[in-house]
Amino acid sequence: MNLGIIGAGATGLTAAYDAVKAGHDVTVLEAADELGGLAASIEVGGTPLERYYHHIFRSDRAVIELIEELGLGDDLRFHRPTTGIFREGRLHPFSTPWEMLRFPAFSPLDAVRFAASSAALKVVRDGERFNDGTALAWLRRWAGHGATRSVWEPLLRGKFGDRADEISMAWLWARVHSRTFELGYVHGGFQRVYAALADAVATGGGKVEFGKRLASIRQPETDHVTVTTEDGSSYSFDQLIVTTPQPVFAEAAGLPEDSTVWRNQYLGATCFVLELDRSVIPYYWLNVNDTEFPFLAVVEHTRMVDRSEYGGKHIVYVGNYVPRDDWRFTTDPAELLDAYLPWLRRVNPDFDRSWITGWRFSRAPFAQPVVTPGYRNLIPAHSTPMSRVTLATMAQIYPHDRGQNFAVAMAHRVTKMIGAC
Ligand SMILES: Cc1cc2nc3c(=O)[nH]c(=O)nc-3n(C[C@H](O)[C@H](O)[C@H](O)COP(=O)(O)OP(=O)(O)OC[C@H]3O[C@@H](n4cnc5c(N)ncnc54)[C@H](O)[C@@H]3O)c2cc1C
Repeated sequence: MNLGIIGAGATGLTAAYDAVKAGHDVTVLEAADELGGLAASIEVGGTPLERYYHHIFRSDRAVIELIEELGLGDDLRFHRPTTGIFREGRLHPFSTPWEMLRFPAFSPLDAVRFAASSAALKVVRDGERFNDGTALAWLRRWAGHGATRSVWEPLLRGKFGDRADEISMAWLWARVHSRTFELGYVHGGFQRVYAALADAVATGGGKVEFGKRLASIRQPETDHVTVTTEDGSSYSFDQLIVTTPQPVFAEAAGLPEDSTVWRNQYLGATCFVLELDRSVIPYYWLNVNDTEFPFLAVVEHTRMVDRSEYGGKHIVYVGNYVPRDDWRFTTDPAELLDAYLPWLRRVNPDFDRSWITGWRFSRAPFAQPVVTPGYRNLIPAHSTPMSRVTLATMAQIYPHDRGQNFAVAMAHRVTKMIGAC
């Protein structure tokens, strides 16, 4: 089979790897000049570091198996980093059950209901039972108004803004159900996984072409599909797997406006990587439970991975999810950083701009599907109106939330589905 794949992220590269192993002729077309898509990396102190904070969970079987198969199993290290919550001007540890129970915003009853409802979500295996309700309605009923108001609601509002009331309980179930306290990170960065996949594809005779932004997909005859890219190149494939966000596919394929492929909605993501000469927060992960803040989370990566990996620098991510027309998505990054500094000082009153020795900014237009009740009915099938074109995209992952693990699992599924492995 002469297989084309659009996108060199986790899904596209895993699909390419599976197909090459099965002896197929594979070409991956990638718009960017880097591997990894949303999990792509920059370099800090000579070591690859994800543009957006990334870790995996103990429960992420598919990606763990892939990492092992690629010979990187010994480099996958599990850590037990800490979490905190910033609320009403103060930092509160929130890593252990004991710290959660002692969270000052909780009454004893709130603490018990928070713990019991979270434990219930861990036990319930079928997330689909939550298809039709909203997270906030479920939380108010089962976790109680106090715990919802002080922990869950600020998190949902921070992440989804005005859409927080619409978020499906299935989405929240997935976040609580399968996540573990232990977090996995590949020594040297997840980039090593993507580089290993690309190497294996090349060794098997396949190729990854960069700077190939998809322009159109057409299936003029029944026996092949034609792809053109914005630089004027044209390709013919027996089968095509498209891993881009749905709107990119719908436009390239010229799908009519009523196609399900257009229906899902996404938030964009923006993220600073700050290189600092000292630590900013005492935790790995800080949830900012104050909706006035212009960002949702501060993640001090070097509280999970030793900073000697990055030339001794402390690495802090400051990120959020926003609509693509939001000022935080459209503002010039240097101005945006200036706008964030007073808020970082609220988190750590000693914080000073002079601590920052370098910074990078990334933004992705389609980063987080907005999962609303009834989302199941909005998901298009992997098979598309074009018989030789298969869609394998992040927003089809449900009821679990997107993530590298589910991208890998989806890639295995679709390559099998089209007989490519
Ligand atoms: C802020 C943030 C934090 C995250 N944290 C984690 C985490 O901790 N753990 C985890 O496992 N996952 C995390 N994720 C999710 C994870 O990054 C994704 O689920 C996964 O990388 C998706 O892989 P994918 O290949 O399906 O999609 P993508 O990574 O989006 O890959 C799609 C590829 O298609 C390319 N493309 C797009 N348009 C075109 C076009 N027109 N022509 C050609 N190519 C095109 C893109 O450049 C990209 O390379 C996070 C994501 C974000 C945004």
